Amino acid sequence: MTTPLFGTLCVIGPGLMGSSVLRRLRATPGLVDTLVVTDRDPDVLSRVHALDLGDIVTADAQEAVKDADCVMLCVPVGAMAPVATAILPHMKPGAILTDVGSTRRSVADAVSPHMRDDIAYVAAHPMAGTEHSGPDAGFATLFEGSWCLLTPDSKAPQDAIDRIAAFWDAMGARIRVMDIDQHDTICAMVSHLPHMIAFTICGTADTLAEEMRTEVLDFAASGFRDFTRVAASDPTMWRDIFLHNKDALLSVFDRFSQDMADMAAAIREGDEKTIVETISRGRRIRRGLADRGKA
Ligand code: NAP
Repeated sequence: MTTPLFGTLCVIGPGLMGSSVLRRLRATPGLVDTLVVTDRDPDVLSRVHALDLGDIVTADAQEAVKDADCVMLCVPVGAMAPVATAILPHMKPGAILTDVGSTRRSVADAVSPHMRDDIAYVAAHPMAGTEHSGPDAGFATLFEGSWCLLTPDSKAPQDAIDRIAAFWDAMGARIRVMDIDQHDTICAMVSHLPHMIAFTICGTADTLAEEMRTEVLDFAASGFRDFTRVAASDPTMWRDIFLHNKDALLSVFDRFSQDMADMAAAIREGDEKTIVETISRGRRIRRGLADRGKA
């Protein structure tokens, strides 16, 4: 018999991430005794009912959190601080507040003035996802083998950090605890900049097709198709990520722009050495990922 990590867990925002957590918990009896789910949209709550993802399903977020030992925010990063501020006064003493947000600094700065001394805030970013949204998009194995980056508040007790780490371990993830700003820079490079490029390149291809009055997109080959999969992601979620990780994103974008300009100059000038070196570096990185089982 597994000892429960939490008596009651409340998930706010049962979309792709939240419903994947709930499905995993349903598939792993004993980790949590009672699952409470809340969302502002009655249609989402109906789907949660139909999918049997919660023991208590309610539109009242303040009521939903009052008995929870852990409250997990699974809303877009722009909604994290307003939702946290609304529920914090209603949480029970000794409970843990956590989330699954993709950016850290802006959320931490907005939430910290409202934090209570008797609540531990242990933010977590599971680095897994798909381009789909909503309660029907989740699946129990989403987090299997992926990283989950924990960025606990400096006042969070070790016991709370250990429990959130144990929780993500049970979700199948590998855990790393890191500093907030380090998190935001790493994610700007490995996730936010690639999405920014994917959204932009799709727009460029679409505009070119209109200008040339031709079927550019009909001939989309595998390289471009890979971009379109990434670019199919949710606009609200990505608007929030870009605006909430602005500084780190623009900083890595500046470096990327310079590298892109150098590559364009090498192509313009017929600088074969630079072109081959840049391509070879890409191949080495791909092989390195393959060696880590991530390609
Ligand atoms: P999602 O499928 O769109 O679900 C978001 C949920 O939040 C929905 O239930 C939505 O409810 C609710 N919500 C949206 N705006 C809200 C607001 N202002 N107040 C209250 N609830 C609101 O999104 P997701 O992909 O699960 O992403 C959730 C979080 O995980 C985000 O912070 C994202 O950055 C992070 N994350 C996502 C991925 C990924 O690949 N998707 C990966 C890692 C981390 P409504 O239906 O009522 O709008």
